[in-house]
Amino acid sequence: FRVPTPVNEPVKGHAPGSPERIELVKELKRIKQVERDIPMHIGGQEVRTGRKLPLAPPHDHKHVLAHFHEGDASHVNQAIDAALNARHAWASLPWEERAAIFLKAAELLAGPYRARLNAATMLGQSKNAFQAEIDAACELIDFLRFNVHFAQEIYRQQPESAPGMWNRLEHRPLEGFVFALTPFNFTSIAANLPVSAALMGNVTVWKPAYPQIYSAQVLMELFIEAGVPAGVINLIYVDGPVAGDVIFKHRDFAGIHFTGSTKVFQTIWGEIGQNIHRYKSYPRIVGETGGKDFILAHPSAHAKAVATSISRGAFEYQGQKCSAASRVYLPSNLAEEILGYVKQDVESMKMGDVEDFTNFINAVITEASFDKLAKFIDEAKASPDAEIVVGGNYDKSIGYFVQPTVIRAKDPKYTTMCEELFGPVVTVYVYDENEFEQTLELVDSTSPYALTGAIFSQDRYAIDLATKKLVNAAGNFYINDKPTGAVVGQQPFGGARASGTNDKAGSLLNLQRWVSPRAIKETF
Ligand code: GLU
Repeated sequence: FRVPTPVNEPVKGHAPGSPERIELVKELKRIKQVERDIPMHIGGQEVRTGRKLPLAPPHDHKHVLAHFHEGDASHVNQAIDAALNARHAWASLPWEERAAIFLKAAELLAGPYRARLNAATMLGQSKNAFQAEIDAACELIDFLRFNVHFAQEIYRQQPESAPGMWNRLEHRPLEGFVFALTPFNFTSIAANLPVSAALMGNVTVWKPAYPQIYSAQVLMELFIEAGVPAGVINLIYVDGPVAGDVIFKHRDFAGIHFTGSTKVFQTIWGEIGQNIHRYKSYPRIVGETGGKDFILAHPSAHAKAVATSISRGAFEYQGQKCSAASRVYLPSNLAEEILGYVKQDVESMKMGDVEDFTNFINAVITEASFDKLAKFIDEAKASPDAEIVVGGNYDKSIGYFVQPTVIRAKDPKYTTMCEELFGPVVTVYVYDENEFEQTLELVDSTSPYALTGAIFSQDRYAIDLATKKLVNAAGNFYINDKPTGAVVGQQPFGGARASGTNDKAGSLLNLQRWVSPRAIKETF
């Protein structure tokens, strides 16, 4: 069994009349016709609690797509028990057998599940077809295939042996269960957090963010069809603090694989610290959290390229990517030209539901997110330190629609230059073209985060300087490209500082966190 280096899954274009478009439209219709009843999945059983909560598309919040059954602390305990019961058999399988299951999941997703998962992601999370395709299809297929490729590298790591002895490394799974706490914004990440730990022989309890439950249900069906045994991935819908209260006090808690907000991650870290005496082993804490990602243009930059990176990097998927550009530094010699292009671009962006494939912008995820964004936009409108360059409208009568908005700040420390908003709002600061070096300092010190960042320049000296000065400002650093859209296997994704533990999703480093190697020495 030798897995060749995978090739990234090609993105399907969904052009009008293409077979993938026809299939996707059929799926969208099918989903809208049937109001689903979504159970939790614990130990291979569908669990219905009767406490049903509705799921609605964010772009059409009066339409009920499904109801899901919410659980309580007893279900968290059941999920942990089911995981621990499944542990021995799963951990004892040769790793190749686990790999084969996840490779099969990749093939099912590349084939019959592609349109289903894309459509579920589009309607449940308000993603347009292209954004769904690069996430739920391509990125997840890549995660599944590259995980196996990197796992192979890990299992092949063996020490030297001197004559008369046999040294070996046994790459054991962690002793206990892994908790996957996953975000709404990427179906691929939601799936990868339990899957990567499971591939390395761990059993998992998976709690998705509620707005992702519709696509989580489709993922669970995919995993079951691929052959993931009962109890290996237990999917629960329980309020976060209720779940945390059981999980972080449990003796067998062995690790958390997290993507979400910095605040929640820090709270969790504190809880784990308080309970550290209870655990069998020190838990693995792996998390990707917030960002306040930058685009910095040097006076030598191509204006048009910078503008495109702003409109794509800040507004794709309504800016709801941890990697999304949200603060921009433009040199005074280019600022007006760049902002002119951005304005043109934004004015041509169509906003609306996901079924009209020409809509570039869809809704933001929840009413809370909408209200927060509206508040910041209103403050900018009223502030003497800021002005709205383009956008600034919002309307939640049908869906949570926020127009892509560019704020221009007079003060480089204006609130929206510093705080993470997680929506289609980007703030621009124009610096004196002779003060590039001082601006590098500003970029580095303005935010506690360090996830992604981009520098645009035609001057190699400036590129080199920025790369060195901003060495800790971003875990993913882009030169003359937008700061979003990392590709598995090409730009391993993750950041440090307040952005996470930088264990790079879909990489060898990440998978390594889910094993606890035993060194064995045998002499003859
Ligand atoms: N990997 C994604 C990107 O490069 C972002 C992931 C996230 O938002 O958590 O755009």
